[in-house]
Amino acid sequence: MIIVMRADLPAGSHDLDQVVRVAESYPGIKAHIHVVHGASRSVTEVHLHGSTATIPTKPFEEFEGVEKVVRVSEKYRSIGRHGGQMEALGFEHNGVKITQDSLHVFAGLCAVDNPRNVEDTFKALQSFGLTTARMGAYKPRTSPYDFQGHGASCLPYTFELAGKYGVKIVTMEVTHESQIGEIRRSLELTGHATGVMLQVGTRNAQNFELLKAVGQAADMPVLFKRGMGITLEESLNAVEYVASSGNRRIVFGLRGMKTNLGDPHRNFVDFAHVPVVKRMTRLPVCIDPSHSVGRRATAPDGLLEIFHVTAQAVIAGANMVLVDVHPRPAEALCDGPQALLLHELEHLLLDVEIARKAYQERCSLAASRPKAGT
Ligand code: PEP
Ligand code: MN
Repeated sequence: MIIVMRADLPAGSHDLDQVVRVAESYPGIKAHIHVVHGASRSVTEVHLHGSTATIPTKPFEEFEGVEKVVRVSEKYRSIGRHGGQMEALGFEHNGVKITQDSLHVFAGLCAVDNPRNVEDTFKALQSFGLTTARMGAYKPRTSPYDFQGHGASCLPYTFELAGKYGVKIVTMEVTHESQIGEIRRSLELTGHATGVMLQVGTRNAQNFELLKAVGQAADMPVLFKRGMGITLEESLNAVEYVASSGNRRIVFGLRGMKTNLGDPHRNFVDFAHVPVVKRMTRLPVCIDPSHSVGRRATAPDGLLEIFHVTAQAVIAGANMVLVDVHPRPAEALCDGPQALLLHELEHLLLDVEIARKAYQERCSLAASRPKAGT
């Protein structure tokens, strides 16, 4: 059961305390308070944990400060929309607001290789007006003989350079919970030169201990990438581990599915699921065209295939684009063949703007029409 408090709760109201008191007067019930930052307002929710099936809603509805009481299904308790009754969850991190209505492009190296390439990438991002980036220090590789990432040793210069070029958030994959502490220590060492969003990669989508660990990291949001060989439902259950461990600042990432039916793309592009995830969950949705397409092929119309799939997701309402770029792909130690050149990133950003405008026009048109099904 979730009790949603009124957003305009008068100062000095004791209704929140009273709601918690009433909730915890039922045997075995624990109340957890969450403040939700949506696109247009912030609201306080009281989540009741324990067996709530027989608890009546009336005692809560009687408080003036309560907006509504929602009985949630077992599934996706924290992240679910529960039949459209729960509004989207968003968050602000280091000055960047991410919601189901916003759009940000996070561009950068798949894997940090050397300071020169990191610096040239951040410098280019700044010249294109981007303040959001991706960088990999810990790489989960299919073969143990492949480059595994420079690990903690590259964090200080990566964060310092991010700060130097105005990057506010870097998404960075972690493959083990000990790396969360390493990232935290490097951020402190560099005087919090930038912010970090922890990334859980597709290969760790059901690494439940890692999911719980990032769920306990209250200081950093999480980008969860869908498991490439499991159902959407299994991935949604997995991400619920993060939310139920305490961290609800989550972005759900689509990055393609492992099947030969998608050939010649690296993974079968799953961006038709953008509106589905936004309907089923309260989370902003990210797409990763680089790991989906996996190559820099250009279509006969002059557009890279990476541009085409990105536009398809943006026109469907995606909130974040995670894209590999490299100033010198031949020097890349991981995924060079799919990295955009810097001038191609500039082109992608202009192309994304066109798709985003089209999405906004589609929303305005939908708002002016009779509701579907009525
Ligand atoms: C990545 O983003 O660097 C990555 C390894 O992605 P994925 O987990 O989707 O393969
Ligand atoms: Mn990669």
